[in-house]
Amino acid sequence: MLADNLQQVRERIANACARAHRDPESVKLLAVTKIFGPEVIHEGYALGLREFGENYVQEMERKSASVSGLAGARFHLIGHLQSNKTKKASQLFSSVDSVESAKLARRLASEGVPLDIMIEVKTSDEESKTGAGESELAEIVEAVRAHPILNLRGLMTVPPWSEDPELSRPYFAHLRKLAELHRIPELSMGMSNDLEVAIEEGATWVRVGTALFGRRKKL
Ligand SMILES: *Cc1c(COP(=O)(O)O)cnc(C)c1O
Repeated sequence: MLADNLQQVRERIANACARAHRDPESVKLLAVTKIFGPEVIHEGYALGLREFGENYVQEMERKSASVSGLAGARFHLIGHLQSNKTKKASQLFSSVDSVESAKLARRLASEGVPLDIMIEVKTSDEESKTGAGESELAEIVEAVRAHPILNLRGLMTVPPWSEDPELSRPYFAHLRKLAELHRIPELSMGMSNDLEVAIEEGATWVRVGTALFGRRKKL
Protein backbone atom coordinates (compact mmCIF):
# COMPACT_ATOMS: atom_id res chain seq x y z
CA MET A 1 0.00 0.00 0.00
CA LEU A 2 2.82 2.41 0.80
CA ALA A 3 4.40 1.40 -2.50
CA ASP A 4 1.23 2.39 -4.37
CA ASN A 5 0.90 5.63 -2.46
CA LEU A 6 4.52 6.49 -3.12
CA GLN A 7 4.08 5.86 -6.81
CA GLN A 8 1.02 8.11 -6.84
CA VAL A 9 2.83 10.89 -5.03
CA ARG A 10 5.78 10.61 -7.41
CA GLU A 11 3.36 10.82 -10.34
CA ARG A 12 1.68 13.88 -8.86
CA ILE A 13 5.10 15.52 -8.49
CA ALA A 14 6.09 14.56 -12.03
CA ASN A 15 2.82 15.85 -13.50
CA ALA A 16 3.07 19.14 -11.64
CA CYS A 17 6.67 19.52 -12.79
CA ALA A 18 5.65 18.84 -16.38
CA ARG A 19 2.94 21.50 -16.20
CA ALA A 20 5.37 23.98 -14.66
CA HIS A 21 8.16 23.08 -17.13
CA ARG A 22 10.37 22.00 -14.27
CA ASP A 23 12.82 19.14 -13.90
CA PRO A 24 11.21 16.55 -11.56
CA GLU A 25 14.65 16.11 -9.99
CA SER A 26 14.37 19.68 -8.69
CA VAL A 27 11.63 18.68 -6.25
CA LYS A 28 12.60 16.57 -3.26
CA LEU A 29 10.16 14.52 -1.25
CA LEU A 30 10.23 14.83 2.52
CA ALA A 31 8.28 11.88 3.96
CA VAL A 32 6.51 13.08 7.10
CA THR A 33 6.37 10.17 9.55
CA LYS A 34 5.15 11.93 12.69
CA ILE A 35 2.84 9.84 14.92
CA PHE A 36 3.77 6.66 13.03
CA GLY A 37 6.17 4.11 14.50
CA PRO A 38 9.73 3.46 13.34
CA GLU A 39 8.57 0.49 11.25
CA VAL A 40 6.96 2.98 8.87
CA ILE A 41 10.35 4.67 8.40
CA HIS A 42 11.91 1.26 7.68
CA GLU A 43 9.19 0.53 5.16
CA GLY A 44 9.73 3.87 3.42
CA TYR A 45 13.47 3.38 3.45
CA ALA A 46 13.12 -0.03 1.79
CA LEU A 47 11.18 1.72 -1.00
CA GLY A 48 13.95 4.25 -1.51
CA LEU A 49 12.86 7.15 0.71
CA ARG A 50 15.81 8.85 2.42
CA GLU A 51 14.50 12.18 3.75
CA PHE A 52 12.09 12.04 6.66
CA GLY A 53 10.25 14.77 8.54
CA GLU A 54 9.40 14.59 12.23
CA ASN A 55 7.58 17.19 14.31
CA TYR A 56 8.71 16.42 17.84
CA VAL A 57 12.16 16.03 19.39
CA GLN A 58 10.91 13.52 21.97
CA GLU A 59 9.17 11.40 19.37
CA MET A 60 12.35 11.27 17.26
CA GLU A 61 14.29 10.35 20.36
CA ARG A 62 12.06 7.33 20.86
CA LYS A 63 12.44 6.22 17.25
CA SER A 64 16.10 6.97 16.88
CA ALA A 65 17.55 3.70 18.25
CA SER A 66 15.55 1.80 15.66
CA VAL A 67 16.34 4.01 12.67
CA SER A 68 19.79 5.48 13.34
CA GLY A 69 21.47 2.62 11.46
CA LEU A 70 19.69 3.36 8.18
CA ALA A 71 22.63 4.49 6.04
CA GLY A 72 21.95 7.72 4.19
CA ALA A 73 18.63 8.40 5.91
CA ARG A 74 18.27 12.04 6.96
CA PHE A 75 15.83 13.41 9.46
CA HIS A 76 14.41 16.92 9.37
CA LEU A 77 12.73 18.60 12.29
CA ILE A 78 9.67 20.35 10.87
CA GLY A 79 7.83 21.13 14.12
CA HIS A 80 8.29 23.86 16.70
CA LEU A 81 11.62 23.60 18.56
CA GLN A 82 11.83 24.79 22.15
CA SER A 83 15.11 26.51 22.92
CA ASN A 84 15.88 24.07 25.76
CA LYS A 85 15.85 21.17 23.27
CA THR A 86 18.48 22.43 20.84
CA LYS A 87 21.13 20.01 22.08
CA LYS A 88 18.97 16.95 21.49
CA ALA A 89 17.72 18.37 18.20
CA SER A 90 21.27 18.84 16.94
CA GLN A 91 22.07 15.22 17.79
CA LEU A 92 18.93 13.70 16.29
CA PHE A 93 18.41 15.72 13.11
CA SER A 94 20.44 16.56 10.00
CA SER A 95 18.27 19.54 9.27
CA VAL A 96 16.12 21.86 11.33
CA ASP A 97 13.50 23.24 8.92
CA SER A 98 11.56 25.19 11.54
CA VAL A 99 14.01 27.83 12.79
CA GLU A 100 11.89 30.81 13.72
CA SER A 101 14.14 33.15 15.69
CA ALA A 102 17.70 34.46 15.71
CA LYS A 103 18.03 33.22 19.27
CA LEU A 104 17.18 29.67 18.22
CA ALA A 105 19.72 29.87 15.39
CA ARG A 106 22.44 31.00 17.80
CA ARG A 107 21.58 28.23 20.25
CA LEU A 108 21.72 25.61 17.52
CA ALA A 109 25.09 26.96 16.36
CA SER A 110 26.43 26.80 19.91
CA GLU A 111 25.79 23.04 20.07
CA GLY A 112 28.74 22.67 17.70
CA VAL A 113 27.17 20.21 15.26
CA PRO A 114 26.89 21.05 11.54
CA LEU A 115 23.24 21.43 10.59
CA ASP A 116 21.20 22.30 7.55
CA ILE A 117 18.76 25.06 8.35
CA MET A 118 15.51 26.30 6.99
CA ILE A 119 13.75 29.32 8.36
CA GLU A 120 10.04 28.87 8.92
CA VAL A 121 8.14 31.96 7.90
CA LYS A 122 4.63 32.73 9.01
CA THR A 123 3.11 33.91 5.75
CA SER A 124 -0.45 34.21 7.08
CA ASP A 125 -1.79 36.09 10.07
CA GLU A 126 -3.41 33.02 11.61
CA GLU A 127 -2.99 33.17 15.38
CA SER A 128 -2.09 29.53 15.83
CA LYS A 129 0.68 29.28 13.27
CA THR A 130 4.30 28.99 14.25
CA GLY A 131 7.05 30.63 12.26
CA ALA A 132 8.91 33.90 12.12
CA GLY A 133 7.15 37.10 11.29
CA GLU A 134 8.34 38.64 8.06
CA SER A 135 9.77 41.64 9.84
CA GLU A 136 12.16 39.31 11.71
CA LEU A 137 13.35 37.41 8.67
CA ALA A 138 16.36 39.59 7.81
CA GLU A 139 17.67 39.34 11.36
CA ILE A 140 17.31 35.54 11.41
CA VAL A 141 18.99 35.16 8.02
CA GLU A 142 21.89 37.21 9.32
CA ALA A 143 22.14 35.17 12.53
CA VAL A 144 22.22 31.88 10.60
CA ARG A 145 24.78 33.16 8.09
CA ALA A 146 26.99 34.44 10.89
CA HIS A 147 27.63 30.81 11.91
CA PRO A 148 29.45 28.69 9.32
CA ILE A 149 28.39 25.54 11.17
CA LEU A 150 24.84 26.31 10.04
CA ASN A 151 24.04 25.86 6.37
CA LEU A 152 21.10 28.04 5.37
CA ARG A 153 19.29 26.04 2.73
CA GLY A 154 15.79 27.31 2.56
CA LEU A 155 12.58 28.86 3.72
CA MET A 156 9.62 26.83 4.91
CA THR A 157 5.99 27.76 5.36
CA VAL A 158 2.65 26.22 6.28
CA PRO A 159 -0.32 28.14 4.88
CA PRO A 160 -3.72 28.04 6.61
CA TRP A 161 -5.32 24.65 5.99
CA SER A 162 -8.00 24.61 3.34
CA GLU A 163 -9.84 22.04 1.23
CA ASP A 164 -9.04 24.17 -1.78
CA PRO A 165 -5.35 24.00 -2.69
CA GLU A 166 -5.66 27.14 -4.82
CA LEU A 167 -6.02 29.14 -1.61
CA SER A 168 -2.43 28.21 -0.70
CA ARG A 169 -1.04 29.76 -3.88
CA PRO A 170 -0.58 33.36 -2.70
CA TYR A 171 1.31 32.18 0.42
CA PHE A 172 3.62 30.02 -1.68
CA ALA A 173 4.22 32.79 -4.21
CA HIS A 174 5.02 35.13 -1.38
CA LEU A 175 7.52 32.74 0.23
CA ARG A 176 9.27 32.46 -3.10
CA LYS A 177 9.62 36.25 -3.28
CA LEU A 178 11.11 36.33 0.20
CA ALA A 179 13.62 33.62 -0.73
CA GLU A 180 14.66 35.55 -3.84
CA LEU A 181 15.04 38.72 -1.83
CA HIS A 182 17.46 37.01 0.58
CA ARG A 183 19.08 34.77 -2.04
CA ILE A 184 18.03 31.57 -0.31
CA PRO A 185 18.01 28.62 -2.72
CA GLU A 186 15.38 26.21 -1.43
CA LEU A 187 11.66 26.37 -0.70
CA SER A 188 9.90 23.82 1.50
CA MET A 189 6.20 24.24 0.82
CA GLY A 190 3.28 22.05 -0.14
CA MET A 191 1.81 19.08 1.68
CA SER A 192 -0.50 16.19 0.73
CA ASN A 193 -3.36 18.35 -0.48
CA ASP A 194 -1.57 21.25 -2.15
CA LEU A 195 1.78 19.97 -3.40
CA GLU A 196 0.93 20.64 -7.07
CA VAL A 197 0.27 24.31 -6.41
CA ALA A 198 3.46 24.53 -4.36
CA ILE A 199 5.50 23.01 -7.21
CA GLU A 200 3.96 25.45 -9.67
CA GLU A 201 5.09 28.23 -7.34
CA GLY A 202 8.65 26.92 -7.08
CA ALA A 203 8.78 24.40 -4.19
CA THR A 204 12.02 22.43 -4.06
CA TRP A 205 10.76 20.30 -1.15
CA VAL A 206 7.26 18.99 -0.60
CA ARG A 207 6.44 17.59 2.84
CA VAL A 208 4.05 14.68 2.49
CA GLY A 209 2.51 12.60 5.27
CA THR A 210 -1.10 11.58 4.74
CA ALA A 211 -0.83 10.86 1.00
CA LEU A 212 1.96 8.37 1.73
CA PHE A 213 1.14 6.80 5.06
CA GLY A 214 -2.61 7.38 5.46
CA ARG A 215 -4.41 9.33 8.12
CA ARG A 216 -2.69 9.89 11.44
CA LYS A 217 -4.34 9.03 14.73
CA LYS A 218 -4.80 12.06 16.93
CA LEU A 219 -2.15 12.41 19.63
C1 LIG B 1 2.21 17.02 9.44
C2 LIG B 1 2.94 17.99 8.61
C3 LIG B 1 3.09 17.79 7.22
C4 LIG B 1 2.43 16.67 6.45
O1 LIG B 1 1.10 16.97 6.24
P1 LIG B 1 0.12 16.02 5.37
O2 LIG B 1 -1.06 16.87 5.10
O3 LIG B 1 -0.17 14.82 6.20
O4 LIG B 1 0.86 15.67 4.12
C5 LIG B 1 3.87 18.70 6.52
N1 LIG B 1 4.46 19.75 7.14
C6 LIG B 1 4.32 19.98 8.46
C7 LIG B 1 5.00 21.15 9.08
C8 LIG B 1 3.56 19.10 9.23
O5 LIG B 1 3.41 19.36 10.54
